Amino acid sequence: MSEQPLVGISSCLTGMAVRYDGRHKYQSAVMAAIAPKVRLLPLCPESMAGMGIPRGPVNLIEQRGQIRARGRDDPERDVTERLLTMGRIVARTYPDLCGYVLQSRSPSCGFGSTPIWNADQSQMIRSDGHGLFVSALLKAFPDLPLLDDRQLDPGSIARFLTAVRERAEAIGSRHGGNH
Ligand code: SF4
Repeated sequence: MSEQPLVGISSCLTGMAVRYDGRHKYQSAVMAAIAPKVRLLPLCPESMAGMGIPRGPVNLIEQRGQIRARGRDDPERDVTERLLTMGRIVARTYPDLCGYVLQSRSPSCGFGSTPIWNADQSQMIRSDGHGLFVSALLKAFPDLPLLDDRQLDPGSIARFLTAVRERAEAIGSRHGGNH
């Protein structure tokens, strides 16, 4: 293959200071073991959605069977649609995305790790939620290979890279079939 596969990544993991508190979550294992093998696409859905850096923290809440993203300190601030829209835009803009490396527990980027709170945010009701950006992305790409910062051991990274290469080959052969 001429080009390396395109892999999205929560940009705070690459050392970009984009978190709500103005800090980053640099992960050397990602940069050492994954970055040389793929084309990394660092994205911060919350900054892309115009939420600013730093910004007020957001929690996911469950209300009438729906998951919404609301300000922790300003519960009237609802950024649900903004974060879902970012996922849809990224899916449309990068149809050749072959994988994603995620920051766990984030209301935008977490997958199966994000705390879900009750409606008034007084109590966490579960801790296996999906961030809204990722939820929207996976609607477009249900089989997208994912890895998060809790899974940066060599075995998990190797399995992720294999899945990424397989997806890249599948996308390449689909495109090849059109010629
Ligand atoms: S939205 Fe995602 S990329 Fe941005 S700081 Fe939060 S976890 Fe990192």
